[in-house]
Amino acid sequence: MLNGKTAIVTGASRGIGRAIACKLAAQGAAVVVNYNGSEDKAKEVEQEIRQAGGTASIYQCNVADYAQCKKFIQDVIQEYGCLDILVNNAGITKDGLLMKMSEEDFDQVIDTNLKGAFHTIRFASRQMLKQRSGRIINMSSVSGVAGNAGQANYAASKAGLIGLTKAAARELASRGITVNAIAPGFIETDMTDVLPEKVKEASVAQIPLGRFGKPEQVAAAAAFLASEEAGYITGQVLHVDGGMVM
Ligand code: NAP
Repeated sequence: MLNGKTAIVTGASRGIGRAIACKLAAQGAAVVVNYNGSEDKAKEVEQEIRQAGGTASIYQCNVADYAQCKKFIQDVIQEYGCLDILVNNAGITKDGLLMKMSEEDFDQVIDTNLKGAFHTIRFASRQMLKQRSGRIINMSSVSGVAGNAGQANYAASKAGLIGLTKAAARELASRGITVNAIAPGFIETDMTDVLPEKVKEASVAQIPLGRFGKPEQVAAAAAFLASEEAGYITGQVLHVDGGMVM
């Protein structure tokens, strides 16, 4: 159980982040529901957690912005007095073939998915070092592990997150802080909802379990990595992908 712990989940207004926020709150953590543009959705998550008897508050912050992240993490520590769990889940896609991909689309995806995690870890780890404990979980992807045509920017950001995870795990291990990544396959959220039916069918054909996963199945993996029981696991990538990568 996570009673007495404070958790930040970035990109928790929708999809996988929302499921993780609700799961950590159900286990007793006070949860910071971060969002960028979807304030109404974030408020819904906050309300859902409170109605279930949990503790939550919403914080707007564009994780791609270094200065905003600094203030965000400082404000959270001031409000809650501690920071125990950081889930870097916020992510975007801007898919396209490499030869046609604009520099802007490449940069935006890297800035949000990869630099966003650097920004939050940069400031959250300072507090965790003081506490001599912490759990950091970065949301990678099967695309970052195996590559995916049409996702050069996204795959690079998600592969980069794995390197960031391993470097941070080595730096922070001696202070009782674990850093792990989760690599989901195809999960039913707004992000995959926009895929053309043909692409969805072709994707399912590559999944040994024969179906897309649910956000709650990724949330279960995140809750495990955030738990006391996972204290001897660091620098790892947990695949939640129906068997796509073995
Ligand atoms: P989603 O439904 O599109 O939700 C994305 C979330 O990220 C939203 O809450 C959004 O907040 C937030 N976000 C986006 N840009 C942000 C920014 N600059 N600052 C703060 N928050 C930001 O996506 P999802 O499918 O749940 O994906 C969640 C994570 O899992 C992502 O990192 C994604 O790459 C990864 N993943 C997803 C799948 C999949 O199949 N769905 C597979 C592998 C990995 P606002 O709405 O407030 O902007």
